[in-house]
Amino acid sequence: MRGTRIMADRAYRKITQDLADPRDFPAGSSDSELEIFHDLDMEEDGGRDRMPRGGGKYEMMEDSAPPPKSVSKITAVIIVSCVVLAIIIIAIVVAVYVPSGVPYTSIRLPLNVIPQTYDIFLHPNLTTEEFAGTVTIQLKVVQETSSVIVHMKDLKFTRTPEITPVVSKRDTVTQDIRVKDTAPINDLEMMYLELSQELQVGMLYNLKMSFSGQLNSEGLDGFYKSVYKAANGEERVIATTHFEPTAARKAFPCLDEPELKANFTMKIVRDKMHKALFNMPLVEPPLVASTNYGDNLMQDNFQTTVKMSSYLVAFIVCDFDFRSNTTTTGKEVRVYAPSDTIDEVEVALSAGTKILEYYEEYFSVPYPLPKQDMVAIPDFAAGAMENWGLITYRLTALLYKEGVTSERNKQWVCIVVAHELAHQWFGNLVTMEWWNDLWLNEGFASYVEYIGTNHTYPEWKMLDQFIYLTTQEALVEDSLSNSHPISVPVTDPNEINELFDGISYDKGASIIRMLENFLTPDVFRQGLTDYLTRHQYGNARTDDLWEAMTKSSETNGEKVNVKEVMDTWTLQMGYPVVTLSRKGGNITATQERFLIYPEGEPSTEFTSPFGYKWQIPLTFITSDNSKQETKLMKEDTETVLKGNPTWIKGNVDVAGFYRVNYDSWDAIIHTLKTNHNEFTSADRTGLIDDVFHFGRSGHVSQITALDMSLYLKNETDYVPTVTAISNLKYIGKVLLGDENGYKLYKDYILQQFDHLISNVGWEDVGDHLQKFMRSSVLSLGVSYGHEDATKKSLEIFNKWKTDSEEVSANLKDTVYYSGIRNNGNDAWDFVWDKYVNETIPSEKKRSCMLSPRLKILLSYHICLFVIRYLAWSLDEKKIRSQDTVSVVSQIAGNPFRGRELVWDFVTKNWQTFLDRYSTGSFEMDNLITAMTTGFSERSDLEKIETFFAANPDAGSGTRAIKQAIEAVNMNVAWVEAHKEEVIDWLSQNAQNPPRMVRDRL
Ligand SMILES: [Zn+2]
Repeated sequence: MRGTRIMADRAYRKITQDLADPRDFPAGSSDSELEIFHDLDMEEDGGRDRMPRGGGKYEMMEDSAPPPKSVSKITAVIIVSCVVLAIIIIAIVVAVYVPSGVPYTSIRLPLNVIPQTYDIFLHPNLTTEEFAGTVTIQLKVVQETSSVIVHMKDLKFTRTPEITPVVSKRDTVTQDIRVKDTAPINDLEMMYLELSQELQVGMLYNLKMSFSGQLNSEGLDGFYKSVYKAANGEERVIATTHFEPTAARKAFPCLDEPELKANFTMKIVRDKMHKALFNMPLVEPPLVASTNYGDNLMQDNFQTTVKMSSYLVAFIVCDFDFRSNTTTTGKEVRVYAPSDTIDEVEVALSAGTKILEYYEEYFSVPYPLPKQDMVAIPDFAAGAMENWGLITYRLTALLYKEGVTSERNKQWVCIVVAHELAHQWFGNLVTMEWWNDLWLNEGFASYVEYIGTNHTYPEWKMLDQFIYLTTQEALVEDSLSNSHPISVPVTDPNEINELFDGISYDKGASIIRMLENFLTPDVFRQGLTDYLTRHQYGNARTDDLWEAMTKSSETNGEKVNVKEVMDTWTLQMGYPVVTLSRKGGNITATQERFLIYPEGEPSTEFTSPFGYKWQIPLTFITSDNSKQETKLMKEDTETVLKGNPTWIKGNVDVAGFYRVNYDSWDAIIHTLKTNHNEFTSADRTGLIDDVFHFGRSGHVSQITALDMSLYLKNETDYVPTVTAISNLKYIGKVLLGDENGYKLYKDYILQQFDHLISNVGWEDVGDHLQKFMRSSVLSLGVSYGHEDATKKSLEIFNKWKTDSEEVSANLKDTVYYSGIRNNGNDAWDFVWDKYVNETIPSEKKRSCMLSPRLKILLSYHICLFVIRYLAWSLDEKKIRSQDTVSVVSQIAGNPFRGRELVWDFVTKNWQTFLDRYSTGSFEMDNLITAMTTGFSERSDLEKIETFFAANPDAGSGTRAIKQAIEAVNMNVAWVEAHKEEVIDWLSQNAQNPPRMVRDRL
């Protein structure tokens, strides 16, 4: 799964470093506006009702309950009375029965029976939003038992389940067995089936269950409905699924644990105007793929899947179109989308086909299914989901429209496609035994997505971008005392959602990249192939992968005990800073845990089994030798090199997950200033990010970091530039309260980046990274009042306003922002009108097109509307509950007192937020970060501490409170310790800023 909420958080953190700078909105961050826009749509319609929905009339299948018939009033009263009486009797029976009848309390299934196959029949009705079905599970008995427990949630049996032994023709005596009773074990989302006899070990039994349920219209998991508007304005309903981690049980009774793999066969009844999709294609002749199923209905019969976990099953009933392509190995790739957006699937289709071909070669294991469908789902909680052979996506993660969607969205589409395709092997073919190894699934896919994208678009320099987008994010998150280890035990399924976080994805990806670099790509790939081959169609633990890697290293030369190395990165939180120092002709390396705020309260939640020491694959180059050397550092202090080079640079190309400090910063800075190309672009990126974080943690003086930034006048590469901007913005953020200091800071920024701002031009031309660079530095220029950039952006804004000349997709943020910032309320009203009166339907519902407008509206001007919008954020009629935190976060980033506004709003409504989100996985975290970030005054700190002392428990956000307090403490300490010297330094070094417009901040 690729989390959009995680991306939103990432985008948020990057954005809030930005003050008023609308650059770098990774595409995933924009998703929430889609739903916001849905709501605005509805309001425009005055809540008027929708056009008829697709979906046929509801015809029950043979063995489910009959449909309700129309009845007279008297009959109805009689029936109701009987039903009530029956319910009372059943309730009494159940009340007596349940306490003694359900002797089961474990959250895991008993594993006395193992599912072999599932035969599923489903009839969803898109009009009534109900579905009915039958599932026959073939069970193999491995332990004597007289009961069977299955997972089941929000479903009810429509008749008593039946169990029959599977007998061969030669068997003369069959066991007479039946399901005696059923009772829900509600807290565990299980159903207990008591049998009349014991099941016999070694035998196979068919357990047949008929059930019915409602399409989920509240949440976006299980079997749920999604709604979209067709080009003609008609509202269309589709039915789709999302099961990871534990929602298959909401669509059909099953044994819903990843280890219990089985073969699934599916039959779906659908309206003739619809298509049904499943993990596998329809059956082929001589079997019949589709058969008539009564009036205007068809039954589609699908091929049986390979052995797979229940959370990867998926099916969809929709009216979408598709485009298709075939890989060189003959696998059909199709991309499905609503018909008016079908032209926008080409990027995903072409990248998907190439990446699928490449992965077959990369993993040296063929893709085992005959097809790969990728489907754009209008309502989708995550970013995408890797269901085997039927991957589902948010619209923004799959659709790209040339000239309308930004270049960043295009990259996002490729990354998400590459991520989900990586899971087809790593996750689907070989699956984690239990959810505690989820980090490996996600960390792995989050790294391989870059390898896949890099293969398709080598000019995008994805591995350099990986440093900025992934490693740096994880280094920041994991530098707090209150982080957590990657690998945490999880027993309760309710805790599984907590595992989908930045540490699992970003740190997981970073340490896997480090391992690949350490073992060498060939050894890594060989280990991977062995692991996938050995465990295919089965399950494995993280240790099994380490074992395969160890063997591969042994076969290829030097044996590395991979488990011993990797355990130090997965079982303890944090990461080391390695200090390289020259002494007596030797260079020694010393390691200690890196903490961004060493004075912070130590975590009480986790301790380290290794005393915060790591086995570090230490790489370095020196001024005398540009060839990379590698040493596995295990001790606190080790000699790594004899000699006395002018400088040594560790963690070559930032392939490792650690920071490096030097006693030779002066020599490094000197080299950067005289010839920065002596270091690769990736190495410069690492030097900048490390020195600025050391300036904050106290490992070096803040002045050393600023001195390094003087070289930036000569920097022209994208990744070091945006890394520097993002680090310098931290200084801007904490100087915001000091008028003179902040002015000097802006002078300095514009002076150092003027060579880029003035030269990148406003034409949307050049390659991918030139477009990224242009949007980043122009928005920086406009945000900080660069006169020429401001003039030009206003010219473009006014042309848009007066001549309707479209603004290029990559510069929309910058241009809208400039218009609003410099032209005030009129411009704001104009952008707002454009936003609500967009007339082209396909454009209107596209979040990627419209998000810059709404984002800018919320972010860069405080007026009554923004205050009203904040109030709306808790009104579910206006803003979907799943989008509330995104709206609040966006407003918190508004430099015109947005964070104060949000603080007051959230603290006043704290209980409502708690009620809604404290059991979710990302929302409380994101909310707490949003409401506290950027505060740097002692009075702010006191206010925050007081509030959380009175409200210490935030459910899944409890750790985020500690992290937030730690971060604000750090800001306050930084301001108190460094403000004066930094202002002093800036006043000496910001001597030649370009001309600026009058400051309105
Ligand atoms: Zn994933």
